[in-house]
Amino acid sequence: MSELAYKRTNVYEVADKKTMKAIFSYAEEYKKFIDAAKTEREACAFVAAEAEKHGFRPFQFGEKLKKGDKVYYNNRGKNIYLIRIGSDDVKTNGIRIVASHIDSPRLDFKQVPLYESDGIALGKTHYYGGIKKYQWTTIPLALHGAVVLGDGSKVEVKIGEDEGDPVFYISDLLPHLSQKQNTKTLAEAFSGEDLNIWLGNIPYTAAKEDGDKTVKENLLHILNEKYGIKEEDFLSAELSLVPAYKARDIGFDRALIGAYGHDDRVCSYPAFSALFDTETDGKTVMVVLADKEEIGSEGTTGMQCAIFTDLIDAIAASFDTTSAVIRAHSECLSADVNAAYDPNFKDVNEPMNSTYVSCGAGLTKFTGARGKSGSNDASAEFMAEIRKVFNDEGVIWQTGELGKVDQGGGGTVAKFIAKMNIDTVDIGVAVVSMHAPYEVISKADVYEMYLACKAFMK
Ligand code: MN
Ligand code: MN
Repeated sequence: MSELAYKRTNVYEVADKKTMKAIFSYAEEYKKFIDAAKTEREACAFVAAEAEKHGFRPFQFGEKLKKGDKVYYNNRGKNIYLIRIGSDDVKTNGIRIVASHIDSPRLDFKQVPLYESDGIALGKTHYYGGIKKYQWTTIPLALHGAVVLGDGSKVEVKIGEDEGDPVFYISDLLPHLSQKQNTKTLAEAFSGEDLNIWLGNIPYTAAKEDGDKTVKENLLHILNEKYGIKEEDFLSAELSLVPAYKARDIGFDRALIGAYGHDDRVCSYPAFSALFDTETDGKTVMVVLADKEEIGSEGTTGMQCAIFTDLIDAIAASFDTTSAVIRAHSECLSADVNAAYDPNFKDVNEPMNSTYVSCGAGLTKFTGARGKSGSNDASAEFMAEIRKVFNDEGVIWQTGELGKVDQGGGGTVAKFIAKMNIDTVDIGVAVVSMHAPYEVISKADVYEMYLACKAFMK
């Protein structure tokens, strides 16, 4: 092949023994994180605890930051910012920002969820993020979240993760009786209102003669005894049903990892572990782990919340400058996953411009749909700068779009950061079956993503 031609590199093809060892041991640490952090609340708690271990302390608005400071801002327990102040002048060098998200598609309990039908207690759900509804039926689901009681106290819930725990379930029709269902399209087979979760089947036998002997009543008693909650408490609760699966190696050679919620914790983990694993030096670094990306980055914990610029304001105030000056000199990697080329579904991808599993971190100039609509579209100049950073540090990376032109599309937090006058480009790990209850990524890619974040922060 010509020396002048571009060619993707497969990490496993070029990795020496030492690198293979590093890839596989990094994967074990990542698996621990992804099993412990299935919701944004859990991810936030995990990262805050890790941050403390690495010498970071909580940031208070109003305090003055100085060179060498390592702080974190835990925004409502669902979104966290990690900041390390370097020795360079932020007025001329700005901040290196890596932004990823810690929320993933799932099924949320409605606020009035409980009902009973034909002797079965069920729960109403409302899906969060883009899901293919049929994929969430007939799999074990765990219940994660928080219930805030009338007096303001909080009950944390996590049922279905321990071996002895029960799990929850959404039924589907047996093939024997599916003649009519089989004629529906995938999108029509299940509606959002069909995703009702099985919760119990034993009636309340302790009821008095004229009392409520229903299964739902029994359930309310169990919930009250175990968690001290009553039905009205669901109104002020955030309870999510997530796949009860643990992360597992995939394939004879263990090259890949299957897990729930790689999107986008497979980029969050490299972002914060790269920060924790590097010493303070010139660059001021900010790692953003955002919530609500899957529903448009809205709300107080999403990337569009002013808290992002408020924190830059706080840094500016500490160094007698303005946020505008810092932002003008800042750069951002929007760390989010891309769709992996899948040999089972060749026709949705354009092979030259797809990200492939095990070919390294995927740098994406633009996302969006149709004519790049809704995309940040990083400049050639910024692409070149990042390309040099990665090549100089020996990071294995590739490029790719999210599918063929006019096939569909998607977005990330990139555009919200770029809007603040910060050069931003998308980069992430290629994911197979994105948004499915069990997604697949390559150990080599999460490791290269880690090296990419490290190179950028240096
Ligand atoms: Mn994502
Ligand atoms: Mn997503």
